[in-house]
Formats: sequence, C-alpha cells, structure tokens
Amino acid sequence: MNTMSRPNLRTLDEARAELLSFAEPLGDPQDVSTFDADGRLLAQDVVSPLQVPPVDNSAMDGYAVRVADVPAVGTRLPVSQRIAAGSSGGPLAAGTAARIFTGAPVPEGADAVVMQEDVDATTEGDAIFATFRSVPTPGLAIRRSGEDVTRGAVVLRAGERLGPAALGLAAGVGQAVLRVARAPRVALFSTGDELVMPGDVAPEAMRPGAIYNSNRFFLRALLARLGCEVQDLGVVPDDFDTTVRVLRDAAAQCDLILTSGGVSVGEEDHIKPAVEALGLLRLWQISMKPGKPFAYGRVGPAHFIGLPGNPVSSFATFVLLVRPFLLRLQGATRLEPRTLSLPAHFEWPRADKRREFLRARLDDAGGLVLFPNQGSGVLTSVAWADGLVDIPAGTPVRPGDIVQFLPFDGLLA
Ligand code: AMP
Ligand code: MG
Repeated sequence: MNTMSRPNLRTLDEARAELLSFAEPLGDPQDVSTFDADGRLLAQDVVSPLQVPPVDNSAMDGYAVRVADVPAVGTRLPVSQRIAAGSSGGPLAAGTAARIFTGAPVPEGADAVVMQEDVDATTEGDAIFATFRSVPTPGLAIRRSGEDVTRGAVVLRAGERLGPAALGLAAGVGQAVLRVARAPRVALFSTGDELVMPGDVAPEAMRPGAIYNSNRFFLRALLARLGCEVQDLGVVPDDFDTTVRVLRDAAAQCDLILTSGGVSVGEEDHIKPAVEALGLLRLWQISMKPGKPFAYGRVGPAHFIGLPGNPVSSFATFVLLVRPFLLRLQGATRLEPRTLSLPAHFEWPRADKRREFLRARLDDAGGLVLFPNQGSGVLTSVAWADGLVDIPAGTPVRPGDIVQFLPFDGLLA
C-alpha cells in the first residue's frame, strides 16, 4: 500500500494501538461502597484476611460421623448432639452421630457427613438413633476450611473490572468498601442540524430532512456502563463558532470530549477545524466497515474523540476503540473483548477491501446468521444482533467456515 498517498488510512489494530498510547491512566482512585462498585475498575488488590469457609463445615443437612463407626449399611448410632448453621458443637463422642445442617461447623472428630436422605432417624424415649443406608468415605459432604479462599490470597487484582460475582467475593472476605479508579468524566455531544430530540417534536410533525437523535441515547448508555460520569451537552449545531465555544467550555471540566457526527471533511463538518483551532487533531480514516472516519485529538487538558455520525459506525467505533480507551484510562489490564470461533451459517461472497464487522445472531444450531441489511445507518441490525462477526479484509465467507465472533456481552458491559 502506498501510505504516502493515503497517509491517514490505518488498520483498526494500528489505530487502536495508537489511541491506547494516549490513554494515560487517570490518577486519584476513589473509595466506593462495595454495593456501588459494579462495572468499576479495581485500583488495588483485594487480599483476604481470612479463610473462606472459615472452618470445615457441612455441605448437607445430615449426620456427622466418624467413618470408622459406620462400617456397613444398617449401622445404628445414637445421636449425641445437634449443630445448626451459626452455632458450633462440641467434639463428637466416639460411637455417636451428630445431627448437622448445611453450613454448620463439622464437630471435632467427625470425618464425614451422611446426607439425611440416606439416614433413618428413630426415637426411643428421649433418645434419637440414626440408621445408615449408605457407608460414608472420609471427607464426604465436608466443605474444607479455605477451599474457596486461603488467608493472604489475592482474590481480586488491581486493574480487574468488577462484576456481580467479584462484588460477592469481595464482600465474602469482609470488604465493605473498595478502592476503584476514578470515574472518567466524559462530555458528550452530537452534531447535526438535522437532529431532533424525541419528545421535542412528534413524529408526524417532523420537518423534511429531520431525524431523531439516536446516537445520543446509545452513547450515553454505553458510557454509563463503563463507569463514566457523563456530562451530556446535547446537540451542537453545524456551526464553527458554536462548536469552538462548546469544546472550549467542555475541555475545562472533563477527561474526554466525545462527539458524534461532523468528522468527515464536508463543508458542514465543523469538528475538524474547531478542534484544530483549540488544540491538535489527528483525523484517521480507519480501514474498517462500518467505521472509517474517526478523530482523536486534544483540547487543552482533555482528550477528544470524534465518532462518525452514521449510527452503526458510531456504535462500532465506540465498542472497538472508545471502550478500550476508557478502560485503559481506568487502569484496566484486560482490554481485549472475548472472541469466539463459530461456524458461519451464512454466505458473504463479496469480500470488502476493509475489515468488516457484521451484525449477527447465534442460531439454534450453534452457528451465526446475519441481519439481512448491513447498512451503516441501519441501527435495527445492532439491536437485533448478539454481536459482531469480524471478517478480515479481502476474505469471502462460505457457509461452514469458522469465523471470529465478538459477543455483545463482552463489548457492551
Ligand atoms: P455525519 O457524520 O455528520 O456526516 O453524519 C453521517 C450520517 O449520520 C448522516 O446521515 C446523519 O444524519 C447521521 N447522524 C449523524 N448524527 C446522528 C445522530 N446523533 N443520530 C442519528 N443519526 C445521526
Ligand atoms: Mg453531520
């Protein structure tokens, strides 16, 4: 490829690497309640001060015994104590069984728990006897102290993204508060004189050429899921002076200014000259479809990212480029979205020169099918899809070929 004649055309991987090189992690981590930490990036290892479970305990409702005391089916033992979860019994007397419940500490001396379904309990006066219908092996139905977490273990690492299970795990080792990366402050605006906000104008009253602003809604939701504090600046008209003013004001109060639309080089695209007037801009033509125009720059202390206006392009460049950028700002160690190798249950005979991201769904046979209209303005394709099929440049696909699939579970969360 002659890079001199197309100096801005980059592969997605090149653009991503370059973009990430600008994403210095934000300083000043903050402490948040573990309840509120879902989706945040851990800023400090979580080390367990205790064993989980703290002591050997019963995995079942049943009877704790010494295995040696139950050599055969039909063995009958007196029940010498009763131990419920939250209490602790005494040592188990030889030749007896202890009635025990799930989560209760296994008494000293016992080395197995026989589940109650395998035991017939009978009473004789005040005494209770247990007759065993199975022969236990050592360790049966006992959860060992520390089998989940040992004291001193790092249960969660700095740079990890917290999810529901991680919050439970942190709570399980006693952490009510977690130190997480500061929430990136993102100023968001859409450009375009054609844009109208739903609610402002009824569908039947829309003027010719007007469209509703859809990008604002999905971008705001995507940012919120990435732990950002969004300052929504609404719609900025296609006007140079206004664009400069809004950019300058936003830069003073945020880490990132994110825009959609106006990054092409048409006369009505004012983002490029406005950012150049205030700072620096690198406008990239990325060799991907949908996508193509994408801008990175700086306005004063703030990062600037300009996404294309076409909704599907805007969405795709967000999940493939802005998402890792925002994760890196928060110190994330894992930026790669999960990829699955799956069979194509579709045909894509005309390979594009650019790498393509097709909207696809998993079918019942475990393969991938495509949304019929892959146009970059067709947001229905994204709402319908389970994820994106990553088709390398110049690669036609036949049914049965194995393709790479990026599920939205790994891209939107
Ligand atoms: P632009 O990148 O500004 O040239 O816009 C490209 C296409 O995307 C045009 O058809 C715009 O009308 C459309 N578009 C731009 N911004 C939005 C938005 N926020 N919501 C929906 N469509 C948009
Ligand atoms: Mg526009």
